[in-house]
Amino acid sequence: MKNGVAILGATGSIGKSALDVIARHPDRFSVVALTAHFNVEALLALCVRFRPQYAVIADPARERALRDGIAAAGLSTQALGGGDALSTAASAPGADTVIAAIVGAAGLVPTLAAARAGRRILLANKEAIVCAGSLLVEAVRNGNAQLLPLDSEHSAIHQCLAGAAEHRGGVRRLILTASGGPFRERADLSAVTPDQACAHPNWVMGRKISVDSATLMNKGLEVIEASWLFGFAPATIDVVVHPQSVVHSMVEFVDGSVLAQLGTPDMRTPLAYALGFPQRLASGSDTLDFLSMGALTFEAPDRARFPCLRFAYDALRAGPSACVWLNAANEVAVEAFLAGRLPFLGIPRVIEGVLAQAPLQAPRSIDDVLQGDAAARRKAGALIDRSA
Ligand code: NAD
Ligand code: MG
Repeated sequence: MKNGVAILGATGSIGKSALDVIARHPDRFSVVALTAHFNVEALLALCVRFRPQYAVIADPARERALRDGIAAAGLSTQALGGGDALSTAASAPGADTVIAAIVGAAGLVPTLAAARAGRRILLANKEAIVCAGSLLVEAVRNGNAQLLPLDSEHSAIHQCLAGAAEHRGGVRRLILTASGGPFRERADLSAVTPDQACAHPNWVMGRKISVDSATLMNKGLEVIEASWLFGFAPATIDVVVHPQSVVHSMVEFVDGSVLAQLGTPDMRTPLAYALGFPQRLASGSDTLDFLSMGALTFEAPDRARFPCLRFAYDALRAGPSACVWLNAANEVAVEAFLAGRLPFLGIPRVIEGVLAQAPLQAPRSIDDVLQGDAAARRKAGALIDRSA
C-alpha cells in the first residue's frame, strides 16, 4: 500500500524538496494534501502535477481564486481556504504522513492536529517544537503519532542514535554542527542588508531561516529543538562551527566513541531518510566525494558577535515560556529586518529586550502558548517602533 502524504507549506523550500523526493517514488507515495500561505499560482501548479485530494490556501481571501483555478484545470481536488483548513489538511483521511514545513509559529496548530490524528509527522517547522516543546511531545504520545526530524542536524542525531535514544545513559552529549552562516568571517555587522543575510554559503533556504542562520538563532532554535526531540538537558548539547557543512551533527557516547553523519548539504537526504524510515530511499542528492572535498574544519561559535545563540540557551534554561517569547520576538524582528524596518544588529537587541519580560509561569495549554506568542509579538513590535 502507498503512503499518503500531506505537505503543509508545499510551496516553500522544504515543500519543493519533499515533492522532488516523493516524485522519485511514485509506487511508494501518493500526495493527499498540499497547502500554501497565499501563492495560489504556485499551489495550482503543484496540484496539476501531483493531483492531491485537498489543496488549502491559508489566506481566506484567496480561496475563491484557488477554487476557480482548480475547476479551470479540470481537477477533482477539493479547494479549502483559511487557517482552520490547514488543520483539515494535517488530519486528512488517507494521509498517514504529514510533512510540517510551514515557517514559524503559524505551523504549530496544524502540526498539533496531525499529532492528535496519530500521523507520522516529519518535522521541519522547528518553531512549532520550540514554542510548544512538551505539549507537542505529549500530543504525539497521546495521539499515538510519531515525530521524525527533518532538520539536517536532528536527522543526523537520529541516525547516530539509531535506536539508542532510549539508553540515554550511554550518551555523553549531542554535538550540533553549524555552518557559521554568511558572516562567520565578517567583523562589522552594522550595515548588513537582507540580501547579504540571505546569501547562505552552503544551503538554499527560505528567507526567514536564512536570516536565522546569519544571526546563529537558527542554531539556538535547533538546540531547543534537540532538547525536546531527544530529551537532553541544555548542558549536554554543544554547538561546533563546521563551515563545510559535510558533518551534519554528532553524538558522543560515554565510552569516548563519537558517531557522525556526513553528506552533501541537500535537504532531500533527511527528507528521504524520514519518508522511508526505517528503510533507506534514493533521494537524488549527489554522492559525497571524499577525494575532492578538502579539509573539514571545526571551531567554536563566536558568542559575542552572535548573541542569539546565547539567548536560546538562556531561554531553554529559563523554561518553556521564555522559549515562546524568544521565538516570537525573533520572528517579528526578522520580519522587520527583511522589510528594511530594523538593522541587522537590531535583531538581537529586540530579542534581548523581549526575553527580559518573559513570564516564568510555563504554558499549560496550547492556548497559553498562543497567548504568550501574541503578547511577545506586541512587545517586540513596540520595541521596533520605538527604535525607528
Ligand atoms: P519557505 O519560506 O521557503 O516556505 C514556507 C512555507 O510555509 C511556504 O509554503 C509558505 O506558503 C508557507 N507559509 C508561510 N507562512 C505561513 C502561514 N502564516 N500560514 C500558512 N502557511 C504559511 O521556508 P522553508 O525554508 O521551506 O522552511 C520551512 C520550515 O522548515 C522552517 O521552519 C525552517 O526553519 C525549516 N527548515 C528549513 C530548511 C531549509 O533548507 N529550507 C532546513 C531545515 C529546517
Ligand atoms: Mg538545520
